[in-house]
Amino acid sequence: MISLSSLRELLRSHDGTLTEELRLKPNALGLGHLPSRLQPDALTTMVCGYCSTGCSLVIHMKEGKAINLTPDGRYPVNQGMACPKGWEALRVLESPERAVQPLRRNEDGGWTAVGWEYAVLTFVSRMKALQEKYGKGSVAFLGTGQIPTEELAFLGTLAKCGMGFLHGDGNTRQCMASAVVAYKQSFGFDAPPYTYQDLEESDTIVLVGSNLCIAHPILWERITRNPHQPRIIVVDPRRTETAQAATHHFAPEPKTDLTLFYGVAHLLLEWNAWDPDFVARHTEDFGKFRNHVASFTPEYVADHCRMRRDEVEELARLIAEGKRVSFWWTMGVNQSHQGVLTAQALINLALMTGHMGKPGTGANSITGQCNAMGSRLFSNTASLLGGRDFTKAEHRKKVADILNLDESRMPQSSGYAYDQIIDAIDRGEIKGLWIIATNSAHSWVQQNRLKNALSKLEFLVVQDMYLTSETAQLADLVLPAAGWGEKEGTFINSERRIGRIRKVAKAPGQALADFSILRLLAEAWGLGHEFSEWTDPESVFKMLSRLSEGQPCDFSRLQSYEDLGAYGVQWPVPEGEVAAERRLFADGRFFHSDGRARFVFADPVQPRERTSAEFPYLLLTGRGTSAQWHTETRTRQSPMLKRLYRDEAIIEICPEDAQREGWEAEDWVLVTSAHGQAAFRCVVTGRVKSGQVFIPMHKDRVNRLIPSEFDPQSRQPSYKITAVQLKKISGS
Ligand code: SF4
Repeated sequence: MISLSSLRELLRSHDGTLTEELRLKPNALGLGHLPSRLQPDALTTMVCGYCSTGCSLVIHMKEGKAINLTPDGRYPVNQGMACPKGWEALRVLESPERAVQPLRRNEDGGWTAVGWEYAVLTFVSRMKALQEKYGKGSVAFLGTGQIPTEELAFLGTLAKCGMGFLHGDGNTRQCMASAVVAYKQSFGFDAPPYTYQDLEESDTIVLVGSNLCIAHPILWERITRNPHQPRIIVVDPRRTETAQAATHHFAPEPKTDLTLFYGVAHLLLEWNAWDPDFVARHTEDFGKFRNHVASFTPEYVADHCRMRRDEVEELARLIAEGKRVSFWWTMGVNQSHQGVLTAQALINLALMTGHMGKPGTGANSITGQCNAMGSRLFSNTASLLGGRDFTKAEHRKKVADILNLDESRMPQSSGYAYDQIIDAIDRGEIKGLWIIATNSAHSWVQQNRLKNALSKLEFLVVQDMYLTSETAQLADLVLPAAGWGEKEGTFINSERRIGRIRKVAKAPGQALADFSILRLLAEAWGLGHEFSEWTDPESVFKMLSRLSEGQPCDFSRLQSYEDLGAYGVQWPVPEGEVAAERRLFADGRFFHSDGRARFVFADPVQPRERTSAEFPYLLLTGRGTSAQWHTETRTRQSPMLKRLYRDEAIIEICPEDAQREGWEAEDWVLVTSAHGQAAFRCVVTGRVKSGQVFIPMHKDRVNRLIPSEFDPQSRQPSYKITAVQLKKISGS
């Protein structure tokens, strides 16, 4: 067996080698005008590491080091564009807040720097001790959609099939779980059907709970390139930047959208504006759906959604008139107490009108994180590797055979979801937690309770790029990780496109790629033999390719990174086809065994959070700027990005409410919910309605206010509405 110290040296030398694949020549981009210090001597490309759009960036290399970047004009996704985060992607690697060496917590609360060997042996001895003392279920992990698919697969397989962790989930639970469940039930597989070209092909684009202008700005740019003068319809309680730029905006009462879409289906049926042929040939359960929506009359829907009847009819009419209608949604739908059903209500509209599988159509969930789609397929958390089912013996055998692992190592259930892991920590069942590349202490709901739960752990390990994240600050052991740009692998974007990331910079200090850390941990745990084939990211990519074989996401024809070419490849990869863009279901065949999609529906229910005399305002949350990403852990490292948005926690209040309460712009307001309180600077704006307020999600204090309410099927948190009271105070 190789010793840990020699393995570490081996990994360091592996980590120290910059990518060799520099495929472009500098003069290909006409960079001759740059001053000599900025003149690259080589160029390479890689996918951006923030959002799921998956833009390609051209990295300018000089003497083996990345010195600059420009958006990739050839890539079918971004076509030469990038948002501010992409432009600043290299800058955030240079931060002094990077974790540069393993650290262990001292008894006095401080940290001591330790070597990798000590850190890895501490991880193994403490996790094993907890398992021996309290049982296998006493340790868990929380992963991410921010690391490459190869690392996600390694993490999930090592933890669940090697170390015997029963519970592990990812931060994709916070953003995409409702869409996953909706697609699985409706289509038979978690399969967003679209290609980005559909944004340019539609004549009617329906955006629900999506502030695309700032959350996915390049996709908004794609809409602005649509030559068909599309109707752009935004359904959102707030007059967002996207709503302001749209041709039509409908603002139902928050969390009444499910009722609204059933009402739209009711009208489309009443007007005979549906596609009986598509429904008959490609779907099941339409008759039951028709009966279900019969009671959703325009009068009832208008009253329930606090809209005018003619607004409900106008929304239905716009959809009825469209020849190529596409429905798109993001967190406003998914982060709901009934997110799965709301997503399925949109899928139902696309199915009943036959707007599926054709250019400019589809029921299209836009993902959040750069590799949420990789996480959905290969993290071994909610699904067994390759989108398979933990509970099916034939699936477990197939995976075990491909991975050359004993079948008995395959878990027979997915284990606890994120919220159940937190609950188990809180009640003392889980004693050890390993958090990888996610900032739970900032991003999870009911933040005060979360932090209290984490304080009960006997052992908290945080593996991250930055030492200053709110979660890393709580760790007993910090494992310093390389970030995007410092390692190899692949991401899968929202339109199912697999794209490369490359090592173009050296990680600082002793930080290692997550892949290398996992190799060290496997060896130290005594699993070196079982994971001997997991030598480098590309060898794992080949395993993923085999794991995908026969699945709806089949990309088994891709045998190496080379096969991804210059434009990435969307799954599935049919034999003999090389297409820059491809949508699903062009043949009308879905992934259920009978090839037919399902209409899925149920009665709407009220959210638990409602306003009252004590909490008279409804707090909405969402993306506040295209310059900051999620918990700001990375983006706040860029002085440029910080200049693009005010660095204060703000709350939006409408002019009528501000006048009635006697508040003015820039006043400080203390916001209190049943779950916590925090102060925010007042911004008076017509973007919100009377009785509603809005706080951007990227400031940590907002999640002190948010309740623990979940979609019962997806277990995704309902971040979007919280009943609050507000009080003017003298300062923050
Ligand atoms: Fe990166 Fe997303 Fe911005 Fe594109 S839109 S540059 S993928 S953050």
